[in-house]
Amino acid sequence: MYYIGVDIGGTNIKVGVVDSKGEILKKSSFATESKRPYIEIIKDIEITIRSLINGLKINLNDVKAIGVGSPGIIDSNSGTVVYTNNINWENVPLGKELTALTGIPSYVHNDANAAAMGEWKFGMGKGLKDIVLITIGTGVGGGVIINGQLFEGNYSAGAELGHIRLGGEGYPCTCGRTDCFETYSSATALIRFTKQAMEINPDSKMWEYVGKDIDKTNGKTAFECAKLQDKAAIEVVNKYIYYLGEGLANMANIFRPELIILGGGVCAQGEYLTKPLQEHLDRNIYAKGLIPTVKIVTASLGNDAGIIGAAALGIAKHE
Ligand SMILES: [Zn+2]
Repeated sequence: MYYIGVDIGGTNIKVGVVDSKGEILKKSSFATESKRPYIEIIKDIEITIRSLINGLKINLNDVKAIGVGSPGIIDSNSGTVVYTNNINWENVPLGKELTALTGIPSYVHNDANAAAMGEWKFGMGKGLKDIVLITIGTGVGGGVIINGQLFEGNYSAGAELGHIRLGGEGYPCTCGRTDCFETYSSATALIRFTKQAMEINPDSKMWEYVGKDIDKTNGKTAFECAKLQDKAAIEVVNKYIYYLGEGLANMANIFRPELIILGGGVCAQGEYLTKPLQEHLDRNIYAKGLIPTVKIVTASLGNDAGIIGAAALGIAKHE
């Protein structure tokens, strides 16, 4: 049996045909061109699905489900994108239109929830009952699997793990509050901490790393210079690890999952990220030393995580 995974982004939309083991058989992508009417974008998804199916010499009837991961607020019961600022969509009946065009049942969920499903079915969380996935990017997203089920809350608006309050430095959040987890632990926050440290440390190696141009600062700057024993960079990394570790300790205490899986560009740091985070968690988790701790790992599905996660949403409903 075959499944379709659709990964919606503001710049590109990726589509793949996936088998029941989570292997991508064929994939393609096209430019979202987000300013055009939504129905044109949805028709392009349909055209891409049909061309992939033809390329594999299989029939549309052999496809059991279409899973879609989209940024924004998604009502997964009706398959509606309630709002996403990445594409400027409001109340777009994405699932309904896709099913009308293809005749295949469609399931639309938030992209972090799709990523959690992918890691649970085919990645690091395979075979486990409870996992929490945290995606670290421009913001911080979350996906929660409880007892083998995706937890989404009412109107699928729950598990917004990036919007729990964390620090006390007063950073405004896009959600309207201040001091949310994501204002301390996103890649955006890491870059902000790095720039702040550079401004008060003109001798830091971080300046050399960015060619004296502070606008070239990215999520790697502090980590790479910390490896060179630059004092200011080490302080930035320690601060970032402290806040991210506090957020993960909160997740561990609420959900007590078997695993916390981290996704996003900063995960390329591997053990430089996970080792100090694990130490922070082990020192701060509830019932420390009495029962086994919660393990922190990085996501394993890589570049195709969006497609595989989206397909996993359909696979979970139809296997
Ligand atoms: Zn917030």
